[in-house]
Amino acid sequence: MAGDAQRSQQRPIIHAVKGTRDILPDEVAAWHRIEAAAREVFARYGYREIRTPIFEQTELFARGIGAETDIVSKEMYTFADRDGSSLTLRPEATAGIVRAVIEHNLWNADPALRVFAMGPMFRRERPQKGRYRQFHQVNVEVFGVSHPAVDAEVIEMALAYLRACGLGEDYDLLLNSVGDAQCRPAYVETLRAALRPQASRMCADCQRRIETNPLRVLDCKVPEDQPIIDALPKIADHLCADCRAHFDAVKQTLELLGIGYRLSHRLVRGLDYYTRTTFEIGSGRLGAQNAVLGGGRYDGLVKDLGGPDLTGIGFALGMERLLMLLPEPAVPSRCDVFLAALVPAAMDKALKLQSELRSRGARVLIDYEGKGLKAQMRRADKLGARFVVMLGEAEMQSRAWKVRDMSASAQEDVDEGRVVEHLVSRLDRRG
Ligand code: AMP
Repeated sequence: MAGDAQRSQQRPIIHAVKGTRDILPDEVAAWHRIEAAAREVFARYGYREIRTPIFEQTELFARGIGAETDIVSKEMYTFADRDGSSLTLRPEATAGIVRAVIEHNLWNADPALRVFAMGPMFRRERPQKGRYRQFHQVNVEVFGVSHPAVDAEVIEMALAYLRACGLGEDYDLLLNSVGDAQCRPAYVETLRAALRPQASRMCADCQRRIETNPLRVLDCKVPEDQPIIDALPKIADHLCADCRAHFDAVKQTLELLGIGYRLSHRLVRGLDYYTRTTFEIGSGRLGAQNAVLGGGRYDGLVKDLGGPDLTGIGFALGMERLLMLLPEPAVPSRCDVFLAALVPAAMDKALKLQSELRSRGARVLIDYEGKGLKAQMRRADKLGARFVVMLGEAEMQSRAWKVRDMSASAQEDVDEGRVVEHLVSRLDRRG
């Protein structure tokens, strides 16, 4: 009865917000692994980490990403600050990084600036497998290098990173060029002219985009629109001489580096700032949301956001998607030494030993509940302890403690005064 009364008084639990998810302790090892791989691989290519705020002034994204993109028009988490200014949780990283580069004149000290970042992004999309409202990206950006070799280098680094994470060769690299300010406006008009007679047969979004931003029509996923879109003029046939030369050089460099790719004339990507090279790496194993990373060149963005005329190129990788492709790592051991105090009088000695071992760098745990030996051994096993030290009545008397090596299933008596050195030296030896 008392239990029932207690239960009826229980407050309702509060759930995580739709489209967000907790990364639980058992999952964290996999995150650490891909974060460490990013730091290690990107350092080989001369990148350093940058960390920018999670919220920015709304205008940064409206100007940087493009007002007509899905992200800006439908997906941003925008809110009024108490002083009335409009703030937005970052839906992507490049705009914020470009703002920081301009604000701190970073290109002055480093004219071929290479930076990377990792962290959460926020988009109010319809949640589904591989698509969240808070998700995490690894972002890579290079500023001030317009040579096409860097486009190939960025792609090579993306592949090296995927390999370092354990993805193997199970990916698909798509490549396109979306032209630049010289040739794209004419292509956009060509596209619009080709689309207008078809408009009444297309979805409502496409009908609107034909007038506002016809390139976005190429992103449309509505099945009935696909035959119309596939027959549209291709941007590759409308590049100016400079963009064509750049694209040819990127392709040649990829071939030189032995990197296979597939051309995809519909790869315009969902953000307006891209110029010239665009690319995407996907895996058939991901299902509908199959892109692991996407990127490209954004040569006009720094200037558009008030900075110097500095070229840029980069990519964004979805960390949740990458993790979906990787085998789950074994849950690592959480404990080097488990101290089993088997009689109350042993607890003081166990506490001192625990403190000393921890100060020497060992990971140590005690079961404070004072359970029996069997229960404590089970606990030690679950924690993956390498050694268990047993302190019972007999050990208190003899002042020699039982040290059990869990992997060798062997145990020895170690004199109380030597036990710290005994354990530390064995832990060191086994790395
Ligand atoms: P984008 O910034 O849209 O170019 O996306 C780059 C990468 O981020 C994609 O290839 C995905 O791997 C990942 N991504 C984008 N949106 C989401 C989302 N809503 N949930 C999970 N991952 C996402």
